[in-house]
Amino acid sequence: MRKKTRQIHVGNVAIGGDAPIAVQSMTTTYTRDVASTVAQIHRLEEVGCELVRVAVPEMEDAVVLSEIKRQIHIPLIADIHYNPLLALEAIKQGIDKVRINPGNLLQGRKSLEQIVLAAKERDVAMRIGVNSGSIDAIDKVAQMQRVQVRLRDDGTLERSDPAEARRKERDHLAERMVTKALEYISWCEELDYHNLDVSLKSSTVLTAVEAYRRFSERSDYPLHLGITEAGTLVAGSVKSALGMGLLLADGIGDTLRVSLSAEPEEEIPVAYEILRSLELRNRGVTFVSCPSCGRVEIDVVGVANEVEKRLTKVQTPIQVAVMGCVVNGPGESRDADVGLAGGKGKGVIFRKGEPVRTVPEDQFLDAVLKEVASLLPEHEAR
Ligand code: SF4
Repeated sequence: MRKKTRQIHVGNVAIGGDAPIAVQSMTTTYTRDVASTVAQIHRLEEVGCELVRVAVPEMEDAVVLSEIKRQIHIPLIADIHYNPLLALEAIKQGIDKVRINPGNLLQGRKSLEQIVLAAKERDVAMRIGVNSGSIDAIDKVAQMQRVQVRLRDDGTLERSDPAEARRKERDHLAERMVTKALEYISWCEELDYHNLDVSLKSSTVLTAVEAYRRFSERSDYPLHLGITEAGTLVAGSVKSALGMGLLLADGIGDTLRVSLSAEPEEEIPVAYEILRSLELRNRGVTFVSCPSCGRVEIDVVGVANEVEKRLTKVQTPIQVAVMGCVVNGPGESRDADVGLAGGKGKGVIFRKGEPVRTVPEDQFLDAVLKEVASLLPEHEAR
C-alpha cells in the first residue's frame, strides 16, 4: 500500500497524497538556447513527461526561464547549485519549482532562507536534494577508520568482514543523508514553508534505497525517487528499476526520474514501464513479446522493436503482444488487446482475444498498428 504523504502542487501537477506518481525528466540542452530547450521539452511532453527540470548554471540561463515557460505545457523546475541569486532570479521568472541541494549553497542556511522566502511569496515549490556525493566527501576519514580495521585489546588488528563493512557503511551514509534532509526541512519549517519534496540520491542503489526507507519512516514530505548517475540505457534502466522498484513496492515514492546517459525522451518510457509493472500507473502501451528461440518463424525482435518505437506517444492503456510461433503465440495474443502470433511467413492478428485475419510477413507492422489505432481515441489514432 502506498505510504500517505502530504500533497504539494508544482504548477498544475499534484505530488504526494493520492496523486498519481508523476514522471519527470531533465533537459540536456544549454538552457540559454531557448529554441533547442523548448524543442526538447516538446519532445518530452509528447512521450508523457509530466514535469521538466532545466539546469541553471549561469545568469544567462536564469533570465530566459519565463520565455521557456511561456512556450511549454508542463511545470518547469530550475536546477540550481551554489549561487542563491540564480534561484532568486528563476523564481522571479515564474518557474514552478526550484531544486537545490542546501549543502552546496554558497552561504548555507542564509542562502536557503533567502530562497525559501522568495519561493513562499510566489507559491513556488522546492525540492531539497541531498546527494550522497557531498556527504561522502565530508565523511571520508570516518569511513576509513570505521570500515577497515579495529584495534584489539591485545594490540592486534581485527579486519572487518568486507560485506558487513559495506553494509555498515551504507547504513551510516544513508543515516547521514536523512539527518541532513531533516535538518534542511526544519530550517524551511521555521519560516513556515512546507511546499517541498525531498530526494536522497546515491549512485549506489542500496544506499539510496536505505536512505529513502529511513526518511519515509520519519517524515511525510513527498519523495522524489532517483538513482543519480545511473548510467547508460541498459545499466541505468536496470539500476533505476531495481532501486525504485524496491521502494515503490514498499509504497514509497511520489514522483520519479529515471536518469540515463541517453536522450531524455528515452527516460520516460522506462519510467512508465516501471510504474506499469507495479500497477501504479497504466498509461500507454504494455508490451508482451517473446524473446524468440529456435522455433521462431518470423522476425519477432524486429517487429516488436518497431511496434514499440511507433507507439511511444500512445497514452491510452493498451496491451500489445508480438509472439514468434504457434507454441505460446495464440495464447498470449488472445490475452492482449492486439496481438500477432507468427507462423511460417505469415501471422494471425488478434483483436480483443479474437483472431481477425492472417497477414503475410511484410504486412505485420502495418496490420498491428492499424488494429491498435482502431482501439484508440481519435486524437491518438492519427
Ligand atoms: Fe520460442 Fe515460440 Fe516461445 Fe517465441 S513464442 S520464445 S518463438 S516458443
